[in-house]
Amino acid sequence: MALDNLSSSLRETFRKITGSSYIDKNVIKEMIRDIQRALLKADVNVKLTLDLSRKIEERSENEKPPAGMTPQDYILKIVYEELLAILGKSSNLKIQPQTIMLVGLYGQGKTTTAGKLARFFIKKGLSTGFVACDVHRPAAFEQLRTLSEQTGAKFFGIKGEKNPVKIFNQSIEELKDIQVKIVDTSGRDSLDSDLLDEITKLKKAVNPDEVLLVIDATVGQQAGPQAKSLMDATGLTGVIITKMDGTGKAGGALSAVAQTGVPVYMIGTGEHLEDFEIFSPKKFLGRLLG
Ligand code: GDP
Repeated sequence: MALDNLSSSLRETFRKITGSSYIDKNVIKEMIRDIQRALLKADVNVKLTLDLSRKIEERSENEKPPAGMTPQDYILKIVYEELLAILGKSSNLKIQPQTIMLVGLYGQGKTTTAGKLARFFIKKGLSTGFVACDVHRPAAFEQLRTLSEQTGAKFFGIKGEKNPVKIFNQSIEELKDIQVKIVDTSGRDSLDSDLLDEITKLKKAVNPDEVLLVIDATVGQQAGPQAKSLMDATGLTGVIITKMDGTGKAGGALSAVAQTGVPVYMIGTGEHLEDFEIFSPKKFLGRLLG
């Protein structure tokens, strides 16, 4: 896993606590220092790391383990709960007919993710279609068409058309029998007012059930501000973090996005259509802690 270092540091910390014959202030202080080091190395936000440390310290001092639980296990329970809080609320994409709009910057994996989503929904038995509304990157049209052939999703696009609202409006009749519609939109190198304006207009026309930000894990903590701007402009409903396989610092994107309060629905773990997982904070943490 890409977060191998974080994983082994946290496991080591947990082992130390389990193996210690008593728990006192010094043991807790040392544990917190270990956890801080591990989180900061994985690029988790500094403020978040300090908040978490404070909470663990406070709770360890003030709370008593319930009858039958050792102090060691109780400390680990506190750490587990506070780490879980960093990963944000748990929420899943609904397996039902819906319209999903994908937004995000260039190169983050938006089009690839459209393909992964199609495979995901088609496997669940829902017919799926793409609407090619990325009108700025010419290659996106062909890329999406190829993905439709690979996944069996229906494809709608108008080559050369520069108005995404027009494309979407024309897709309505074509895709009227399709249960899940995935609308791919334009990206940019950075979030500028033109892009936000285009997305806002398109969102009005599409009236989607979900507006999902596709963001690359390697951007780290920059994921937070990007999610926040798009949330303010478009009413983002969730996030898909891609390229989780490519970085040992995925803690940056994960913690930053979770802080915005938008759930992380899925994670991309490779270039293939199958490299896609439902994100569950509990499962993720479980795997991290082995
Ligand atoms: P877009 O500009 O946002 O539509 O980005 P693309 O979908 O074209 O993806 C950009 C690059 O990222 C491509 O080379 C993809 O194969 C790659 N990519 C997308 N998702 C993942 C992922 O989860 N892991 C890895 N390793 N590569 C990915």
